[in-house]
Amino acid sequence: MKTIGLLGGMSWESTAIYYRHLNEMARERLGGLHSASLLIRSFDFAEIADRQHAGDWDGAGAILTEAARRLEDAGAGVMVIATNTMHLVADQVQAAISIPLIHIADATAAAVTRAGSRRPALLATRFTMEEDFYKGRLSARHGLDAVVPDAAGRAMVHRVIYDELCQGIVSAPSKAAYLAEIERMRRDDGIDGVIMGCTEITMLIGQEDIDLPAFDTTRIHAEAAFEAALA
Ligand code: GLU
Repeated sequence: MKTIGLLGGMSWESTAIYYRHLNEMARERLGGLHSASLLIRSFDFAEIADRQHAGDWDGAGAILTEAARRLEDAGAGVMVIATNTMHLVADQVQAAISIPLIHIADATAAAVTRAGSRRPALLATRFTMEEDFYKGRLSARHGLDAVVPDAAGRAMVHRVIYDELCQGIVSAPSKAAYLAEIERMRRDDGIDGVIMGCTEITMLIGQEDIDLPAFDTTRIHAEAAFEAALA
């Protein structure tokens, strides 16, 4: 198995989930005492989130790019950015390394397509919902017509990610608000699936709460990285 380089800590709450998924996959697939071979660079998320909210994507991208180079030098054979949002700088990171970056939107699109969904809701940070790097890629490369919540819904979804989930807070009112937004989008927008397009959303809701195919990007991305590392 190749070593997976993982750019994490964005937030560490979801990096911990990646860590568990990757090690459980190694145990299931390889058995015995096998676990995942990983190099993790876990950032102080405050330093990244400040740059995101200031629109300093070049600065945030430079931090990730430098770390990706170091992980490659240290022996990583595949690279993972363990967050949807920071794929805004994925092209920059990929251009700086010679190993493959496993893109979370491509892995997610493959799962959405396999499930027969074409018009999934995209619940994510406002950067992922409003910039073109994610929805545009789903559309241009995979023919998917992802739909985002209305302005009030986007503000609510974004706030819960940064003010609660990334700080380890999982609350029943926020879960109810997410599920109500999904119901509204089903009624008004004709969605046929739900992309949990932020790696912390799996802490709040899951397939068991949703009566449509749900796509947990944390698990989907970890699976794609694991398969790439085995290949
Ligand atoms: N982990 C989240 C995501 O998947 C949000 C935090 C971040 O901005 O990286 O988008």
